[in-house]
Amino acid sequence: MPICYIGFGSNLGDRLGYILGALEGLMAFGEIKKVSTVYESQPWGPQNQGSFLNGVLELETWLNPIDLLRALKSTEQKLGRRPRERWGPREIDLDILLYENHIIMLSFLKVPHPYLTQRDFVLFPLLEVAPELIHPLSGKRLEDYALNLQNRLVPYICILPSEL
Ligand code: ATP
Ligand code: CA
Ligand code: CA
Repeated sequence: MPICYIGFGSNLGDRLGYILGALEGLMAFGEIKKVSTVYESQPWGPQNQGSFLNGVLELETWLNPIDLLRALKSTEQKLGRRPRERWGPREIDLDILLYENHIIMLSFLKVPHPYLTQRDFVLFPLLEVAPELIHPLSGKRLEDYALNLQNRLVPYICILPSEL
């Protein structure tokens, strides 16, 4: 079955509760193989909002990328994410970072995620669960991108997939 990597984040209310709810929701769409450390990170974009908890998980899934995006959005909605400005505060955010080595350039779905190599809260947790990954567009090792990115993440908690 295809392997994909999903980034998760929350900066409103019971942040860890939303993340645990998301992981539980995602178990309906495949098998969670790995979960990175959950980190606390400062907001990206508008700064007048609370700090985030972020992490990355590896999912083996039977959904194709478009159905997976639908599943992520419905999981966000079920958990109570309300529509707000882009890069603003959110109860839960679930992004497809990579799906196998597929390249998808649709208006509503871009894979690899366009900011994958620029965000410490995505790149470092992703490398933690899959250090050998290659960027499907550039062919470069993700590890090499990390050399040029400052890591401001503060470890918050570890979640074992076997405990979900
Ligand atoms: P960013 O994508 O920069 O992290 P965001 O997560 O704050 O921003 P959202 O408001 O959650 O953005 O989503 C905006 C739209 O992005 C979604 O409706 C979705 O269709 C689209 N989108 C494009 N590529 C992806 C992807 N790889 N994963 C999730 N959503 C995506
Ligand atoms: Ca996002
Ligand atoms: Ca999103």
